[in-house]
Amino acid sequence: HRVILTRSDAPFITGIKDIQNKKVGVQAGTSHEGFVKEHTSIKPITYPTLQEGLMALSGGQVEAFVVNIASASYWIRKLNLTNLKVAAQASFEIFYLYFAVRKDFPELLSIINKGLNSITQEEDQEIQRKWVSIEYKTGVDIRLIWKYVFYISIGLFLFFSLILFWNYRLKKEITIREKAELELERHAHELEKANEQLKELDHLKNMFIASVSHELRTPLNSIIGFTGIILQGLTGELNPKQKDQLTRVYSCANHLLGLITDVIDISKIEAGRIDVYPKKFRVNEIIQEAIISIQPQLQAKSLSLESDVPEDLMVNTDRKRFQQCILNYLSNALKYSEKGTIKIVARDVGKYVEVKISDTGIGISEADVKRLFEPFERIDSHLRVKAGGTGLGLYLTRKIAQELLKGDISVESELHKGSVFGITVLKDIEAKNEKSISD
Ligand code: ADP
Repeated sequence: HRVILTRSDAPFITGIKDIQNKKVGVQAGTSHEGFVKEHTSIKPITYPTLQEGLMALSGGQVEAFVVNIASASYWIRKLNLTNLKVAAQASFEIFYLYFAVRKDFPELLSIINKGLNSITQEEDQEIQRKWVSIEYKTGVDIRLIWKYVFYISIGLFLFFSLILFWNYRLKKEITIREKAELELERHAHELEKANEQLKELDHLKNMFIASVSHELRTPLNSIIGFTGIILQGLTGELNPKQKDQLTRVYSCANHLLGLITDVIDISKIEAGRIDVYPKKFRVNEIIQEAIISIQPQLQAKSLSLESDVPEDLMVNTDRKRFQQCILNYLSNALKYSEKGTIKIVARDVGKYVEVKISDTGIGISEADVKRLFEPFERIDSHLRVKAGGTGLGLYLTRKIAQELLKGDISVESELHKGSVFGITVLKDIEAKNEKSISD
């Protein structure tokens, strides 16, 4: 091996790069001089013999010496240089050792070869161990340790900084969240309180409307009753002007009565103060009754009417409310149609009964259909004034269907073509036993 020798007290080195800037010695004219000059930037100090070179290293004239281990071991022992050590390998190639003889001594060559051949493997190993083996003086490179300590410290510092930063961010977020939660809780509490107050107010409003409307109906009934008697001429002849004006009073009072009746119904449903009175009856029964009640208007408008209701279709529900819905639909079909046919079709759909009333009237545009079932919504048309109405009929129908009869409503319509209004009700409804205020 080509090795680097240093004094025993020299700092630890790992290879040739660690002696780049040191005073390095080599034996002149050897392969080591060539190696150092060709492979490193070291400018070696050369010594004519190995002995001189090693003495110079031991004496401190050079700091390192590049040499082959076998020759060095020999001379170190021979010269008894106790302050030297093999510090590191200089290169990694392995050189073989040879004997050389003069060309004109062929006998010597063969004698030496013979002698060498007689050496056993054990003896060979013993010689190698004694003269050629390398014993490195291992040590710890302080610079390397500092380097590692430095990197590890930086790593730890970054790691802990990251954790601290993370903690800080989390804490901040938690504080913000806690604050927001508190705020939310406070708002929710306030909202709940406001909601309760609103519910209470809504209830009071409904109660108020129901009772005021009731009080209004009594005098209104008198007005309608007495105007009717006067109009019939039971209290004496009327002149045409009186008759015309009284007719207006009569129809306005009737309109008002309708409005009040609807308002009472809506308020009572919204206040949950309406009872459902279930009764078993045939659906055709209430439909025929409704048809009879609209007969005069039907004839006046020369509209035809068809009904297709299975005779045996039975329901157990609130008769009055179901009929009220059908009448609402029928009277609308009449009011908003000028020609054609009104059809009533009823059918059994499992747990429900469905009644559909179609007309060939003015129809409703897609945009307006959405508003239909809202209170006081009346769609603009040339029949709007003539037809009269409150805009509460469909709203009330929806409320009755959904909240009292446990069903639903439906509508399909096309402008200028006609409409189909439907209602489905639960076939068999359980009676509710809530207390109601009488109307
Ligand atoms: P109204 O008392 O005005 O009839 P409704 O609530 O019963 O109130 O109906 C609301 C509006 O829906 C009506 O004003 C009318 O414009 C429209 N409408 C209801 N039924 C029909 C129908 N069969 N054909 C066309 N339009 C209708």
